[in-house]
Amino acid sequence: MNVHESEKMAGILEEMGYTLADNDQVADVVVFNTCAVRESAEQKIFGNIGMLKSAKAKNPSMIIAVCGCMSQQKGYPELILKKYPYVDIIFGTHNIAKLREFLIQKQKQKHVVEVVETEDIRLRDQMNPTRTSGTNAWVNINYGCNNFCTYCIVPYVRGREISRPMEDIIKEVDGLLKAGYKQITLLGQNVNSYGNDMASPEICFANLLKKLDELPYKYRLRFMSSHPKDLSEEVVKAMANSKNICHYLHLPVQSGSNKILKAMNRNYTIEHYMSLIDMCRKHMPDIEFSSDLIVGFPGETDEDFEGTLDLIKKVKYQQLFTFIYSKRKGTVAEKMPNQIDIKTKHQRLSTLIEEQRKIAALISQHYIGKELEVLVEGIHPKKKGYLLGSTDFGKTISFAGDANLLGSFVLVKVEKANNTSLTGIITDILEKANGKYRLPLDKIRRK
Ligand code: SAM
Ligand code: SF4
Repeated sequence: MNVHESEKMAGILEEMGYTLADNDQVADVVVFNTCAVRESAEQKIFGNIGMLKSAKAKNPSMIIAVCGCMSQQKGYPELILKKYPYVDIIFGTHNIAKLREFLIQKQKQKHVVEVVETEDIRLRDQMNPTRTSGTNAWVNINYGCNNFCTYCIVPYVRGREISRPMEDIIKEVDGLLKAGYKQITLLGQNVNSYGNDMASPEICFANLLKKLDELPYKYRLRFMSSHPKDLSEEVVKAMANSKNICHYLHLPVQSGSNKILKAMNRNYTIEHYMSLIDMCRKHMPDIEFSSDLIVGFPGETDEDFEGTLDLIKKVKYQQLFTFIYSKRKGTVAEKMPNQIDIKTKHQRLSTLIEEQRKIAALISQHYIGKELEVLVEGIHPKKKGYLLGSTDFGKTISFAGDANLLGSFVLVKVEKANNTSLTGIITDILEKANGKYRLPLDKIRRK
């Protein structure tokens, strides 16, 4: 989500004539697009803003802007200006489309601070991103979140759910595929609730998927994130019956304990979650899953954590994104009793990561000898004559091949595997890109 918003703002800077600087110390404009989901992300941003103090002293015409989730929080614009008076522009998550205006305004005034609660989403949708993810293009389908999981800051800093009109999404995806992108990733805090804020029942995620699948191109369609409480059989069937939708589902579970799920306000039980996994496997026996998990949520006992370990062993995720619970100001969980000490949180995290490492290694082994469809995404940075690609289920695979295969779909026979990646040989070329592909442009500096 944040990467794509940075791409959109980079698009404005490019239209204004700016090009990518060698580093932020020598840039004319530095935009910090911040995250506030965990405290560590905030600390990192503060450190990075602090590192620009001397550069700004040497070059007072440098413009420093801070935007995104962190600056959207109550009291933060004041806090940022107090700690870092050399920051010039502060705006939030809703008005990123006004970056050009803010830069012009800054020429006339010392500070520009504009944090608003809502803004017309069409302004964000009409932005022309400088895309940076190679063969993949990100496409927003809905903004905001209505769920209020008790640990999460997102609903407070991104507002309520608003869906984009279906015809706008289809038009954008069609344009991207025509331009040579080979993979589209639909973005929303909860893609399954796409259309719930629209009058027509026809506007729903399953129908959006079906319509996008009908576009006359060979491509990969992915999406994230999918809230388990709203995943319908309609969506799963749309995936199973499609030509282009990957048989891969990121289905964040957060915890393996019903007690903790209730305290998190996730609105599903482990039994329901497991029934979704079974339903997906019934329609798509080859599907792989990934998930988000939080350890150390207030009140999480050893027994609750055992529940999480049991769950990952049962589901066998091909990938997990694991987080230590981080207290977020203004959320319900911030005030919950029985906060877990940091040592226990770290121990649980390492146990979880180690368990997942074994599971991922076993899953990878299972692919040895199989032929998989692979999208060729780049040149191997370390092995001369080798290319890198990804499987439908999101695993990186390397194989010998020529750079003219970039952007093509090939068949690769897997020869070796470790827990994070596969190695193989090309056995067939399924669709050659013929030069019509997008190469990674590392135009946005990510810290
Ligand atoms: N909307 C998405 C969903 O529900 O799956 C997730 C958005 S959130 C930016 C990504 C992940 O960050 C969440 O799934 C959760 O695991 C994690 N997260 C959110 N708040 C957190 C917190 N306070 N501490 C630790 N992890 C957190
Ligand atoms: Fe946060 Fe929950 Fe909304 Fe995801 S669904 S953004 S975790 S509140």
